[in-house]
Parts: sequence; structure tokens; C-alpha cells
Amino acid sequence: MNRDSRVAILVICVVLIVMVILLGLRSHGEVRETVRTQYGEQQLMLARQAASSISEFANERVTIIEILARDRSGDPVDNITRCFQTIYTKSEGFYSIEYINASGVVVYGYPEERAPIGYDLYAENRSDIFEAVRDDGETRICRPTYLFEGGLGSFIWVPVHDGEEFRGVILAIIRVSTISDKFIAPLMANRTGYVYMMDNHGQMLYNGELFERPWNGWTAIQSDQASGKEGTATCSDATNEEYIVAYAPVRWRDQLWSVGVLVPESEVDSLIRSVYKEQMIFLGAVIAIITGGSGGLILMFSRWNKRLEAEVKAKTCDLVRTNEELTRANKQLKELDKLKSEFVSMVSHELKTPLAAMKTSAQVLQGDGIGGETRQEMLNVILRNIDRQTKLVTDLLDLSRIESGRMKLDKEKVSLGDIIEDAVENVRQEAEGKGLRLDIDLPEGLSPIYGDSGKLRQVLINLLDNAIKFTAYGGRIGIKVRELNGQVELRISDTGVGIPAEELERIFDKFYQVGGAQTRGTGLGLAICKGIIEAHGGRIWAESRPGEGSTFVIVLNK
Ligand code: ADP
Repeated sequence: MNRDSRVAILVICVVLIVMVILLGLRSHGEVRETVRTQYGEQQLMLARQAASSISEFANERVTIIEILARDRSGDPVDNITRCFQTIYTKSEGFYSIEYINASGVVVYGYPEERAPIGYDLYAENRSDIFEAVRDDGETRICRPTYLFEGGLGSFIWVPVHDGEEFRGVILAIIRVSTISDKFIAPLMANRTGYVYMMDNHGQMLYNGELFERPWNGWTAIQSDQASGKEGTATCSDATNEEYIVAYAPVRWRDQLWSVGVLVPESEVDSLIRSVYKEQMIFLGAVIAIITGGSGGLILMFSRWNKRLEAEVKAKTCDLVRTNEELTRANKQLKELDKLKSEFVSMVSHELKTPLAAMKTSAQVLQGDGIGGETRQEMLNVILRNIDRQTKLVTDLLDLSRIESGRMKLDKEKVSLGDIIEDAVENVRQEAEGKGLRLDIDLPEGLSPIYGDSGKLRQVLINLLDNAIKFTAYGGRIGIKVRELNGQVELRISDTGVGIPAEELERIFDKFYQVGGAQTRGTGLGLAICKGIIEAHGGRIWAESRPGEGSTFVIVLNK
């Protein structure tokens, strides 16, 4: 990859990253707004839930007392007050239940220790509500006021009328803290934020100390709450920390209170952060999977690629090799072609020469007055040339049979020693004529081999003929036999001209002659020898160095 493409990829990456960041920022704003709205709604639902539970609870308490006042209106006072204990214990939430007689004096209360028995409303100048309840016969609930014992309490005044007769008032007191402990405090358990309760006059009923410190924007919220509205808004404290406020009204009879939930806006951010965290983990996992997956794929592809490259390389090597082989084969074909041409001329020569010699001899024999000696000589020439031609034709036929796989072997148990002696006898005269010494070294008790004695004899004669032919006067020809493990080795050596190393293999090719056609021969002998030995399942090769003689080695199976 060149420098320009690297820079281009870098620029594309940077642009993509910037785009992703911008989109991320934009969507973050939208996400934050949505989460904030939903979070506010959630707080409102909590406030609403608390408010409706309080309404239900308080209204239920009022109804219980009203039922008692109505059902027992004609009963003696004792009967009425006896029920106080039952109500107090069975329906939780009452601080005390008292009975005020028609003259405005507290005559009974439960629990007794909380009831100011004998308290005279008229004497204490606090008879106004008592009288109002007596006169219109309706239940009244006072705004929460401070109890003697401390803390705020709601006073529920229920008149007892027996027909037209006013018998007194049942006064039930519910402590505001009972309500807040039960319904409001749990709202903020384990959460960051505040919860408060106030009445429609702005009097704080729970967590009032919260508003002892300044809050920006709370006045509007307070007036909404005082008028019984519900909703969400924002305000901030002295440190400018933003809060979401959700509020809902509590209505019980003519009482109007309001529950408020105040949570810091930072909660929204931590909520978003937790969502982002989860998303990041998910995204990380996805990226890891994708990266791992693509890494794996890349690895796989690069392995494939490498394998492919190796295959291509191997195939290329094969091609190169095949090409070299073809070139070699082509060269060999050319050489073969040349050899064939040489062979044709050689064969024509070899066929013509004896014919010419025979013709001349025959003409001499035809003539008059030739002596008996000359006649014999001429006949010898004719016979020698017939032999020469016969050998050539036999060689050609043998080679043709070997190459076509038609050569037949008459295999039997034969004595190698006999074959050697026979072959040596065949060439002895010629060898001696050239002053060559023939050394035969046969081991004692040489075991017979399984072969065609005629063909093996032919091989030996051929090799001995060559040895004689290529060894100068006074040289030595040796035949040595060794028994190997299951095989027998024959070494026919001479002290002749020798053969160059590069020719050692080729001399067994048909028509091949070292140094071309200078030597007298057809180049068929060794090819026939090789064919016969290999047909016996054996091997033949030559060992030689120019000027140091040659050794032809044959190894045959026993
Ligand atoms: P040829 O009829 O020419 O002798 P051969 O096939 O018998 O054919 O031999 C092939 C060639 O091998 C010979 O022409 C000669 O060059 C070489 N050759 C064979 N035997 C010997 C040997 N004993 N010493 C040196 N060269 C040899």
C-alpha cells in the first residue's frame, strides 16, 4: 500500500469518527430529553400512588367513625365508647378516639392516657367547631394542628344525633406522622431525592425542614399544589443543582393536601449512563464478535491465500520441471533421430560390405585356374561374411523382440560356470590372437541359477567380444563370480580404453557408441544384453575410467 492510499484511508477514518461523534452527541440530547420526560412521569406516578393511598386511608377512617356514630346513635354512651377500643385496635391509624358529651365535655377516650377526660370545651373557649358540627349535623375535619404531646394531628369531628336529639360528638385524631410514615417515607427508601407533603395553606406536613433552605422556582410549584393540581416541574437549590419535582393532590373530604417528590436531575444522567453502560457493553461485545469474526475470516483467507500461493508455486515448479523434462526428451529425440540416421547408414554399410566381399569372392571362384588354396580362402571369406550378416540380422531381431516384449526365455536350472566356460571358449581364439590373457575366477561349488542358458551365453559372448575389441594387445580380461545373499555377481573386466563417466549409462542405449560411429560395431550389443538381463530380473551396469579399463557388472537372482 503506498503513502497516498494510507493517507486517504486515514482521512476517511477521521471523517467517519467525527460523523459518529456528532451523530452520537445529537442523539444523546434527544435521548436525554426523552429519558428526562419519562423519569418525570415516573415520579409523578409515584406521587399519585402515594396521594391516592393516603386519600383512601383517611377517608376510610372518617367513614368508620361515621358508621359508628350513625349505627349507635340511640345506644347508651357506654355502648358507643366500648366500640372505641375495637375500632382503635382493628383499624390502625387512629391516635385516639374520644367522646364529647352534648355539653362539650370530654367524657371518655381510648386509649385513656391520651384522652383529656373532663376537658370542657366551653370552659377552654374552644367550642366553635363543636357547635358547628352540632348545628349542621355534618362531619368536620380540621386542618392539621399541633397536639399537646407534640406533632401534627388531624381532628375528625363526627356528631351523634339520635333523631332530633344531639347526644354529643365523636372526636377521632389521626397523627399526620402515622400517614407519612406509612405512605410517604417509603417512597424515598434507597433513593436519592426528597419527598414532602403540605396542605393547601402551604403548611408543611412532612419533611418541612426541606424548604427552610431556598429553592428557585418552588413558589409556582407551591401554588399549583395549593390549588390541587398535579404535574411535574423543575427547580434548583442554592448550589444550582437542578431537581425534577412531581406532585399530586390528596383529597379527603374537604381536606386538600399535596404529595411532592423531588429528585435531582443528575439521576437522569446516571440512569442514561447506566443505559449507555449496558449499551456499551453490548456494543463492545458486538464489536469484539465482529472484529474476532472478521479477524478469523482474514486469517482464514490469508491461510487460503498462502496455501494457494504454495500450490501455485508447486505447480509452477512442476511446470518448470515438466518443461525441463520436455526439453531433455526433445534433445534425446533429436539424438535418437540422429542415431537412427547413423544406424540406417551403418546397417546399409554393414549389409552391403559383406555382400560386396561375397560377390568378389564368388567372382574369383568363377574364374579359371585358381588354386585350391585360393578357393579355400575365398570360401572362408564368403562364410565369414555370411556369419557377420547373420549376427546383424539376429541382433536386430533380438532387439525388436526385447522392445516389443516378445522375447521368450527358456528358463531352467543352469550352471553359470558352464555358461562362462562355453562363452570363453567361443572367444578364446580371438583373444589369444590379440595376445590377451583371460583370467577366470569362479568360486568353489557355485550354486546353479534359474535362467535361459542360451541368452546368458549370448550376453557373456557380447561382453567378452567388446572387452577384446576395446583392449589393446597384451592386455588382460578377467571374469570373476561372487555369490551374494540370494544373488550372484559377475564382473567382466578388461584393461582396455575405458569409458568416460558421462557415457556409462548411455552405452546401454540402442545404437549408442562412444565417440559416434568411429568404432566398428552396431551399438546394439549392450542394449540386447541389458534387455536379456532385465528379462531375468537382474541388473547390469558398467564401471570405468578412461584409460584404466572397464568392468561390466551383472547381478542375477539365484
Ligand atoms: P558395439 O557393437 O558398437 O560394440 P555395443 O552396444 O556392444 O555396440 O557397445 C556400445 C559401445 O560401448 C561401444 O561402441 C563402445 O564405445 C562402448 N563399449 C562397450 N564395451 C566396451 C569396453 N569393454 N571397453 C570400452 N568401451 C566399450
